[in-house]
Amino acid sequence: MPTYGHHIAGKPVEPSSRDYLLTEDPFTGRPWARIARGTRDDVDAAVDAASRAFREGPWATMTPSERGRLLWSFGDAVAANAGRLAEIEGRDNGKLASEVNAQVRYVGDYFKYYAGLADKIHSVVIPTDKKGVFAYTKYEPKGVIAIITPWNSPLTLTSWKLAPALAAGCTAVVKPSEFTSASMVEFARIATDAGLPSGVLNVVTGLGPEVGEPLVMHPQVAHVGFTGGDAAGRRIYELAARGLKTVTLELGGKSPNIVFDDADLGQAVKGVVSGIFAASGQSCQAGSRLLLQQSIHDRFIDMLLDFMRDVKLGDPALPDTQIGPIATRPQFEKIRDYIEIGKREGAKCVLGGRDRADLGAGLFIEPTIFTGVRNDMRIAQEEIFGPVLAVIPFTDEHDAIRIGNDIRFGLAAAVWTRDLRRAMLVTDKLKAGTIWVNNYRATSFTSPFGGFKESGIGRESGVDAVKEYLETKCVWISTDLDVPNPFIRR
Ligand code: NAD
Repeated sequence: MPTYGHHIAGKPVEPSSRDYLLTEDPFTGRPWARIARGTRDDVDAAVDAASRAFREGPWATMTPSERGRLLWSFGDAVAANAGRLAEIEGRDNGKLASEVNAQVRYVGDYFKYYAGLADKIHSVVIPTDKKGVFAYTKYEPKGVIAIITPWNSPLTLTSWKLAPALAAGCTAVVKPSEFTSASMVEFARIATDAGLPSGVLNVVTGLGPEVGEPLVMHPQVAHVGFTGGDAAGRRIYELAARGLKTVTLELGGKSPNIVFDDADLGQAVKGVVSGIFAASGQSCQAGSRLLLQQSIHDRFIDMLLDFMRDVKLGDPALPDTQIGPIATRPQFEKIRDYIEIGKREGAKCVLGGRDRADLGAGLFIEPTIFTGVRNDMRIAQEEIFGPVLAVIPFTDEHDAIRIGNDIRFGLAAAVWTRDLRRAMLVTDKLKAGTIWVNNYRATSFTSPFGGFKESGIGRESGVDAVKEYLETKCVWISTDLDVPNPFIRR
């Protein structure tokens, strides 16, 4: 069985505990690899390596252009190894081969985008209101960045933080999810082979309380970038606050996908399906609340059911599979519980609602649609993170906006309409970090992504993401030969 240690200071490192965790293939249900069970000592070693790489050695003295060239080479190396990385990642989280392949290839592009930005972090000269001084800003890397990621898209969600952090000149320690660590260890090895200096990217695997918490609290860590669930996100925010560290948090959502009666319904059906059933709904941006205008409700549901009739569940590695397994057993149990909650709350299950013990290791849940959902039900308010769609009717634009915003999350939303005025009104009023009009799921390294309200703090991707990893320094230079005497009033 393959065994993955940590990756510290450019080398594979055994866990100080000598202890390993098994990592399972959710399709077969069988362990396929062992990953190091990290400890506080391993975290200390990794942060020490990252801190040294930040302060001294080639990374610290490189010009931004040299750093950019290295990141570009790393992007090439990721693309060259995309097939192998995707195979490992798909094995760990059960994502469809087609999807995980595309995701990992895109990770290479991510590094190239930020490679290009590394030498375009411009300072500004400040036109001040003071005489005899000249002021300008400098943007300096914050230092060691802790990156903590979940199991749904490990390499993608790490790169959203790592690529801008490295472009800014920071170094990093990554703690991947204990369910999906192998691809990250392999990724760090590729980074070292591509010439990233020792200590710039370190990986410590293991459990949240054993590795994640000491990492967040380590005095040498300057900033924490986290994607994952609510509970862990709040805990990390509290721990980071003790050290007055900055954070970026991406905590998921319950996004409204709003279909008006004037929309191209055939296109909207495809957008609704990809919004909720891609990755078996295990996606922070999933369009898990379908808001349907009452006048088209029944017709749209018929079209949706028709579209979903022959969907094929099965082995995620096979090219004709359309829906794969749920990534982990706890997640599978959680989704099953929510389906029962939906039934008890009085919603009508019009599609799916059952698990498929006959497939693979049994971690399959049929795509599930509930109609007759009220927005105050738990299946409308809580993030299920699975293939479960809650359909809620609305009367007009104002009703749609009211229901869309009546939620503690604010990660994403979509509007389906042919009316430009309506599209602009609704996008203006919805409280969400990303809003799609007549499409769902488009994201890019060029565009900021993050949440309003309890969906998180800060933005990832796009030019501005680099700023999350930079400190601003303002330098004042006297242009007067004479320093004013502080005891003489001017
Ligand atoms: P999680 O939030 O528990 O874990 C995410 C990461 O945080 C993992 O690496 C984990 O080890 C780490 N972690 C957990 N507790 C920690 C702590 N106290 N200190 C430091 N690090 C800690 O997520 P999960 O168990 O992978 O899934 C739980 C729920 O999170 C899911 O049911 C889903 O609703 C949600 N989720 C959201 C996203 C997203 O993209 N927003 C992704 C995956 C899961």
